[in-house]
Amino acid sequence: MVKEDEKVIPVRVVLRCRPLVPKEISEGCQMCLSFVPEEPQVTVGNDKSFTYDFVFDPSVEQEEVFNTAVAPLIRGIFKGYNATVLAYGQTGSGKTYSMGGAYTADQEHEPSVGVIPRVIKLLFQEKEQRLEWEFTLKVSYLEIYNEDILDLLSPSRERSSQISIREDPKEGIKIVGLTERDVTCAQDTVRCLEQGNNARTVASTAMNSQSSRSHAIFTISFEQRKKSDKNNSFRSKLHLVDLAGSERQKKTKAEGDRLKEGININRGLLCLGNVISALGDENKKGSFVPYRDSKLTRLLQDSLGGNSHTLMIACVSPADSNLEETLNTLRYADRAR
Ligand code: ADP
Ligand code: MG
Repeated sequence: MVKEDEKVIPVRVVLRCRPLVPKEISEGCQMCLSFVPEEPQVTVGNDKSFTYDFVFDPSVEQEEVFNTAVAPLIRGIFKGYNATVLAYGQTGSGKTYSMGGAYTADQEHEPSVGVIPRVIKLLFQEKEQRLEWEFTLKVSYLEIYNEDILDLLSPSRERSSQISIREDPKEGIKIVGLTERDVTCAQDTVRCLEQGNNARTVASTAMNSQSSRSHAIFTISFEQRKKSDKNNSFRSKLHLVDLAGSERQKKTKAEGDRLKEGININRGLLCLGNVISALGDENKKGSFVPYRDSKLTRLLQDSLGGNSHTLMIACVSPADSNLEETLNTLRYADRAR
């Protein structure tokens, strides 16, 4: 279904800087990032500048981020492209806020609604326009924690002994043993999101009591069939990923079990960086892409590169107290381009 003449840009990277939060303001933090209106550029201090596909300064709201960066990927789904949206950044930088990973139904009409509920709304709106097509939609929601896969839609939150990753010649990467919910409307789908959000692992650290040390992946699988020609059908997949915090270990004072978590999580982010930079580099076309080095990249394998659109939303705090981690994020995102 994907047309050869359409140029696929495999990876786009956008930067999103949140406003200073009340805690930073009360601690007297200053902004260490500056922005030039209409330029996709951020400057750190007075000298270092970075350019991305888009740069969203602290005044930019959820709707604009969605319309500018995410909505085009959704339209690609109906042409048979897979799509992946990843939120990257240190704990507290706005990943969950941006993705909508804390969504509850009473937030429905608020401007603060994040990417996932907006994606769901647009998907069903677009689907309604395509009267000559039939759709089957399924949703799954999982978490990778310490290289274990946890099923966020299973009542028992099964661990990875029951869940395994397989490669299916027709369906691509399949996660055997994972709950898949059939959904027929936006409301059903949003309910799955809410259920999974409630089940997410939250471990407290010295840095942020709501800190999350796991990757959360919300997946919508699509099958589309032309009503007049059942042989005309195709599948696509959309992954919406709230990545684990990218911060270095020392800052969170983690010990024992926590430290192990930190090391594994960094492996996923490290592999993701390697995969994305291999995909984005024209000179590396056809060369080896190290998908198999972590659960995260293995699971996303058929939705990064190939007939896929990937969007990385790099999230940063503007506060000078976070300068070091912000620079790390800016560099990681720069390498991904
Ligand atoms: P992370 O998931 O990266 O740890 P959060 O999404 O939980 O970070 O954001 C940390 C805090 O900052 C939350 O209180 C959140 O509401 C707030 N925040 C993040 N991004 C924005 C934004 N763009 N506008 C307003 N508040 C934001
Ligand atoms: Mg979070």
